[in-house]
Amino acid sequence: MSVLSIRQLGDPLLRTAADPVPLNPEGTPEPRVLKLIEDMHQTTVDAQGIGLAAPQVGVGLRIFTWNVNDQQGCVINPSLDQSGEAAYVPLSEDDEVLKEGCLSIQGGIYGPVLRSPRVVLTGIAPNGSAVHIPAEGLLAACFQHEMDHLNGRLFLDRLTGEHKKRAYRQLREGVSA
Ligand code: ZN
Repeated sequence: MSVLSIRQLGDPLLRTAADPVPLNPEGTPEPRVLKLIEDMHQTTVDAQGIGLAAPQVGVGLRIFTWNVNDQQGCVINPSLDQSGEAAYVPLSEDDEVLKEGCLSIQGGIYGPVLRSPRVVLTGIAPNGSAVHIPAEGLLAACFQHEMDHLNGRLFLDRLTGEHKKRAYRQLREGVSA
């Protein structure tokens, strides 16, 4: 396995919708895709991230991996059913909410993002079997963040109000939070 270099804000691939992964007649991906997925897992661990989408490592294919609360996973050609009213993602009982960041946006830029509280992720696993994962909270937010990457969207786009102003000011100034 190898650690891949992560594309950074400004790279056009981060703003391009990714293509579906072609599958063999048996419904499995090619070996090069399996290698990519292994490398994406390794890269996520190395970067201490919780999720990574293929465009972030320079591959415009609909694949993402995650590593949330010690649960690793991967999906190919995903779909996401979202339900519930979008809200900031609670981290604890005392009103603390998740501040999202992104491995493709350095400089200590984080902010809370409105996300659907419940999702169901479907798609294809690396071995060709069907993926069906209901998720809530942090994992649900991670899935939505990574799906956005596959559609050329970044969490910055979803920040609002003061949070957006602060993030863009930090980006302009290149100042760490
Ligand atoms: Zn990201």
